[in-house]
Amino acid sequence: MSVYNFSPGPACLPKSVTEAAKKALTNYKNTGISVIELSHRSDPIMKLFDAASDRLRRLMKIPENYEVLWLQGGASLQFSMVPQNLLPHDSGADFIETGSWSTKAITECNKIGHANIIASSKESNFSYIPVDFKQNNDAYYTHITSNNTIYGTQYKVFPEIRNTDSFLVADMSSDILSRYVDVSKFGVIYAGAQKNMGPAGVTVVIIRKNLIGKGYRDLPAMLDYDVHARKKSMFNTPPVFSVYVVNETLKWIDKLGGLEAIEKINARKAKKLYVEIDRNSIFRSPVQSKDRSMMNIPFVFNDVNMDESAFLEFCQKRGLVTLKGHRSVGGFRASLYNAMPEKGIDLLVSAMQDYEKMDFKH
Ligand code: PMP
Repeated sequence: MSVYNFSPGPACLPKSVTEAAKKALTNYKNTGISVIELSHRSDPIMKLFDAASDRLRRLMKIPENYEVLWLQGGASLQFSMVPQNLLPHDSGADFIETGSWSTKAITECNKIGHANIIASSKESNFSYIPVDFKQNNDAYYTHITSNNTIYGTQYKVFPEIRNTDSFLVADMSSDILSRYVDVSKFGVIYAGAQKNMGPAGVTVVIIRKNLIGKGYRDLPAMLDYDVHARKKSMFNTPPVFSVYVVNETLKWIDKLGGLEAIEKINARKAKKLYVEIDRNSIFRSPVQSKDRSMMNIPFVFNDVNMDESAFLEFCQKRGLVTLKGHRSVGGFRASLYNAMPEKGIDLLVSAMQDYEKMDFKH
């Protein structure tokens, strides 16, 4: 029986990618050496980093005036690296609070400067993306989380930055590479790899070059974008294997026809599940329909007395795994990242339909 992994991350990767990784672990490009044994200064690995950056640039249409950095520390380190590099002393940034990950970004920013929450959907358990807000004139940037992994909301239209000296920063950890976005609308985009790109261990930062090297504070070298940019992401030993897997995933996206093609597939996959959630009499979506994510789809029982673990077990027996919802939403969550085959969604929809038909009164 095939197993479909609906995990929110680390998450499913394309079969061809894990197969290629298996081979690279024993013999990388006929060197006779494993990819994890090669020096990061060796020719094949320097070429790998260049290839991954070039491929990402091409797929995302990243303009020339942006740097691509491959860093460590996860998206969580970016919560503090962004303000440390981009906020002068005694200054502030605006934040739109759309879930626990943006709250964490706010907490870290407050240790460096002032994080102004200009809009929040906290009062409704983050069931929508707020659109009414006023940006502060003196905010250096506005931070958003483009897709909220836990609550299942996603920006369809990004906020416009009115102050021309300011810029948009986006945590795209859970929807990078799922659709085309206009990179030139952002000062910084960052994302941990372990959802749509590859394994944990590498974080991509796409940053406009004129934001690097501001020198607002004397930063430890590892926290300084300027150091990493000047050293082409090789200031210290980089996570070579993770970048290898990312590069293979990028090749897979390329073969599928790029981000425009993947966006269409993702929209079709997500629609199938939302149609069923809305139709099915025992389930409902906790998210306002205009803001529903294509990547992470939470759904709950209409009847709070129904046994969630029984449905999870029912799914598990059909090879549909890691569907348990996050504790802050409850119920279930299906993460439909790029690599989730459409068949997995068809099987989940069938499981929901079959479960609806079961008689729970006896
Ligand atoms: N931001 C978002 C939107 C996330 O989903 C996650 C992880 N689930 C993080 C940040 C934290 O990422 P990391 O574990 O790479 O620090």
